Amino acid sequence: MKLVLATHNAHKVEELRRILGDRLEGIELVGYDGPEPVEDGETFEANALIKARAAAEHTGLAAIADDSGISVDALGGAPGIHSARYAGTRNDEDNVRLLLKNLEGTADRAALFVCAAALVVPPTGPAAATDGFEHVEVGNWPGSVLLEPVGGGGFGYDPIFKPAGYSVSAAELHPDEKNSISHRGLAFTALMPVVREHLLG
Ligand code: IMP
Repeated sequence: MKLVLATHNAHKVEELRRILGDRLEGIELVGYDGPEPVEDGETFEANALIKARAAAEHTGLAAIADDSGISVDALGGAPGIHSARYAGTRNDEDNVRLLLKNLEGTADRAALFVCAAALVVPPTGPAAATDGFEHVEVGNWPGSVLLEPVGGGGFGYDPIFKPAGYSVSAAELHPDEKNSISHRGLAFTALMPVVREHLLG
């Protein structure tokens, strides 16, 4: 059974391969290099579904995708679904710099990483007789925004995110530790039983 991973983000592919690991038994995870859809949803869930639908339609195979980002309380939830392009450049360091600038002098630094993980199984059979199937799971990872970047691991906003209950940044965690508590880890851990049920029966 093939399952398309609908992301072009190399960091996410690496994290997801680790997260899914042995939960993939009997399922071959394949990459996606088809067209990227316009992510014009207003929620993480809507955008994850848009990405998974596009890959499922393009390949005719079941597809999983995620949409994720960081929501900062003092910024009314920004950058949220706009996390990847917050600074307008799609560059992690620019995004981090802008977020720190926008929080300068702010005492409330509470933040939440959010990940929506979507599964889309396309309709199959002659004239697509079998109904398709869609499902989304959401994972939340609470914490706070540090005053400056710390640590060399991870990606994106990891160097300025201190998970609740930890004294280090997400960029200082071992990848397996991050994956066991992160928004992406939680969302895909919840999604995998649904994937297995629909692909393997
Ligand atoms: P997406 O590819 O549209 O889902 O964009 C997600 C963006 O949110 C990424 O480019 C990162 O900037 C940020 N992000 C999501 N998950 C993480 C994470 O685990 N660590 C750090 N940044 C993240």
